Amino acid sequence: MTDFQIEIVPELTIPPFLVGEVKSKLAYLDEHIRQGEVAPAGDRILLVLDLEPDPALRSSLESKVQRVVTALVKGAFKPKVQVLEDCLDRPVTYGRDPLPELLERGEVSQEANGVFAMGPLLSRLINYFEGRFLGLADSFAARPYRFPTLIPARYMDRVNYFSAFPHSLSFATHLRTDLDVIDEFASHATCGEHGLSTPMESFSQIEMMLSPAVCYHLYFALADKTLPGGQVVATAVGNCFRFESSNLASLERLWNFTMREVIFVGAKDFVMQNRETARQRMKDTFQEIGLAYKVESANDPFFIGEFRKQAAFQSAFQLKYEIRARLPFKDSTLAVGSYNYHQDFFGRRLNISLPDGSPAHTGCVAFGLERIAFAFLAQFGLDPQGWPAAVRQAMNPEES
Ligand code: AMP
Ligand code: ZN
Repeated sequence: MTDFQIEIVPELTIPPFLVGEVKSKLAYLDEHIRQGEVAPAGDRILLVLDLEPDPALRSSLESKVQRVVTALVKGAFKPKVQVLEDCLDRPVTYGRDPLPELLERGEVSQEANGVFAMGPLLSRLINYFEGRFLGLADSFAARPYRFPTLIPARYMDRVNYFSAFPHSLSFATHLRTDLDVIDEFASHATCGEHGLSTPMESFSQIEMMLSPAVCYHLYFALADKTLPGGQVVATAVGNCFRFESSNLASLERLWNFTMREVIFVGAKDFVMQNRETARQRMKDTFQEIGLAYKVESANDPFFIGEFRKQAAFQSAFQLKYEIRARLPFKDSTLAVGSYNYHQDFFGRRLNISLPDGSPAHTGCVAFGLERIAFAFLAQFGLDPQGWPAAVRQAMNPEES
């Protein structure tokens, strides 16, 4: 397929701290966009399209770009990035992108954009990391939970998810319970390059979504109740879905990924202290594993209407810290986990009360399993001989 490029000069220059944020939003402007780039100086935007734009498309793209840039840039303050841990210069032994070799060896296979199957190497490595995360959960005597992959839209509405992250939602539907519709589908449905041939009217109204995070399920389970004993620590692993359009890339950014969470619900101090204790404990674990990483303040990828206000709020109240592992092959870092504090947001929205009647506070520690395995391979390669001893021996006990 041929690519067509257009360049747009934004009315406001994009400051360096927003270049990545603007770039990630370009993927959602128009279905013809294959890739969007922001010049490092923030004064030009390049869009790669899958067709030659006519004047109407050009002008629509131009106005959407200006809308996004203005919404994100106007009145934005540079957040003060707080670095809590910096172990980026820990020695690593590998410098290439592990994905081509993983694909070549059949250790991963791509089913669709952002959807990968993983073979024994990654599965075993993920099991190893899962063991470490479960160790963290056990250190808090966390209660184990299993949550569904589907999540009711009604609850997601209640926690403002629609306005905060509309771009990354994934919806679940089924055929309408009508014999004619089902018969029609059975005899005529086909799936082409761009998806099913079935008309949208054949599908039921959407009531369910694919879950974007694990901890929401716990908050929903506790909704409209008083928290027994005034506090809960829970842990669960689950499939999570975030549609990231053309930003979906490699194992770094998936549509379907898995997250292990340790979740704290209770009074403010209980949640804040446990989040901090979890960070200290993981610091020792990452040292044993030999991971090169840093922990720094961050914000969630809110959509444009909400971004400026919410990101500033998260940063001002130090609500989110990310564990960012080094990716030597591209001289950058990748978030492999996060330490989050939601204040009493879920407590208020979902009416989760403490025994004194006040709304519960919540927080979670979340690890992206595919990402941590990918970052580890990017730092130490595919050959276990080159891995730090703690990981090598845990995965192959006969060796020690
Ligand atoms: P968050 O709730 O956004 O802090 O996500 C927790 C962790 O999940 C992140 O630190 C990542 O490791 C992982 N994660 C989030 N989004 C994705 C994605 N699109 N693909 C793969 N992993 C992800
Ligand atoms: Zn969470």
